Amino acid sequence: MKIAAADLGDAAARSEKAHLDTGPDGPGGSIVTASGRRSRPGILLDRDGTIIVDHGYVGSIDRVEFIDGAAEAIARFNRAGIPVAVVTNQAGVARGLYGLDDVALVHQHIADHLAGHRAHIDLFLYCPYHPAGVVEAFARTSEDRKPRPGLAKAAEATLSLDLAVSWVVGDRPEDIGLAEAVGASAIYLGPGDYLRPGVWSFPSLAVAAPFILERITV
Ligand SMILES: [Mg+2]
Repeated sequence: MKIAAADLGDAAARSEKAHLDTGPDGPGGSIVTASGRRSRPGILLDRDGTIIVDHGYVGSIDRVEFIDGAAEAIARFNRAGIPVAVVTNQAGVARGLYGLDDVALVHQHIADHLAGHRAHIDLFLYCPYHPAGVVEAFARTSEDRKPRPGLAKAAEATLSLDLAVSWVVGDRPEDIGLAEAVGASAIYLGPGDYLRPGVWSFPSLAVAAPFILERITV
């Protein structure tokens, strides 16, 4: 299923691929709280440094290198019925290093690789904008650029998530900032600890996955 980019967030959110299960609730279930509000958690994953190695402005599939255990971690989230979205800053578009079509090809490549591990991403979202860009159409600030909340809000709307019970996973301060901006739980991936209360640190998505699965309520 394809979701039009212009329908998401501040119209800058780009989504070129989404696998949404059929059924009234899409992937996973939902909890109706005492207030009657739907409470469906999701997992928002950074891309570079989280699923694939951050080689810097990865805009072609020959530069895609998967991080060990990431596909298996995503498959576990899938089996638990938790929607998974990728939310990624792709300033390389604004900087003229690659185009929107190239981002789509990289995401298709990632999807194909994940499929080989019985894993899938429910929604790919990226921000092609950067204020210092050289491509005029993308040289601007954007609510979609992490840590601004646009991509998370687009995922919330598209996947019917409750961000307050969702998790953001990433390897940069802007990922932690995104979690804080939307009231989600934050997981930092890196060699050391992220020294901020309420942020859990792990060396990889593979190691973080059991921790998230123990605490997330589907
Ligand atoms: Mg990253």
